[in-house]
Amino acid sequence: MPQKLSLNNFNLILTLALGGFFWALGLGGFEPLAAQELPAKVDSLKVLPQPLDRGTVGLVELAEGSADCLGDFDNRPIFFFSVKKDTKKPGSAAGIRWVGLFGADIMLKPGTYPLKVTCPGVGEARAQVVVRDKSYGVRVIKVPQAQVRLSEENQRRAAQEKVLVDQALATRSPERLWSGAFLEPVNGQVNSSFGRQTKLNGVLNPRPHAGADFLVPTGTPVKAPARGRVILTGDHFFSGKAVYLDHGQGLISMYFHLSEIDVQDGDMVDKGQVIAKSGQSGRVTGAHLHYGVYLNGARIDPMPFRKMTSRL
Ligand SMILES: [Zn+2]
Repeated sequence: MPQKLSLNNFNLILTLALGGFFWALGLGGFEPLAAQELPAKVDSLKVLPQPLDRGTVGLVELAEGSADCLGDFDNRPIFFFSVKKDTKKPGSAAGIRWVGLFGADIMLKPGTYPLKVTCPGVGEARAQVVVRDKSYGVRVIKVPQAQVRLSEENQRRAAQEKVLVDQALATRSPERLWSGAFLEPVNGQVNSSFGRQTKLNGVLNPRPHAGADFLVPTGTPVKAPARGRVILTGDHFFSGKAVYLDHGQGLISMYFHLSEIDVQDGDMVDKGQVIAKSGQSGRVTGAHLHYGVYLNGARIDPMPFRKMTSRL
């Protein structure tokens, strides 16, 4: 259940701007004041859910904020945006609230991690986030060893494609392009194998399955779950025909093993727009849609992420 953090360990610091103000007044430079003497503007920070499963998304809400606030969790940025307050809730005042999303990467070790938010000219707030383990399972596969090894040509090809993919995944456009609840890219059965690792001929692959697979027949229209920009399309060795969408503020979604791509790099796509048809291209055993979501590089389960967006 979501819970409100009581922030006894709350911290507030002077920003450089405020320090510069006192400096200009000749009040003795950057001597920091004790925390309790500072104006408590960023005075509360709500993080939910707590604890957070590895491979899922968390939400930070500020009592007071702006688009300039910037957070940090696990060395990844947290960008903030405003959403309308739910005025239907009893006791809820009209207005906006400032929220930011952050991901606990699928391979993040369980433990307690600091989360920090800085709002220029206002201050800094901190919270502790408890990340707990979640079992996603291990799949054990045995195949002839000759099938495991990639030819030199394919190794080279996969390495070249990885460079392009890493570049796309590093996209951090400041503007949030999406709003409201994410759609499911196809209506179909989800084989929730997100996070599962594979042990191939006794060797555990350190890269877990970083998406949800939808078991749909080849040719099923794939819809953009939210507004975004096409940042990469290609026909890759592992992923097959693939589309990557940038939704802004470090949120990137991807669609693999397609039979047909209906968009081009640079296109803006609307929520619900058909971007491709599903298929079984790349290294797969059967037709399905692989749907992945990365939040500032953190690999998160698209299904709980979708639930989170439906609350915004
Ligand atoms: Zn998959």
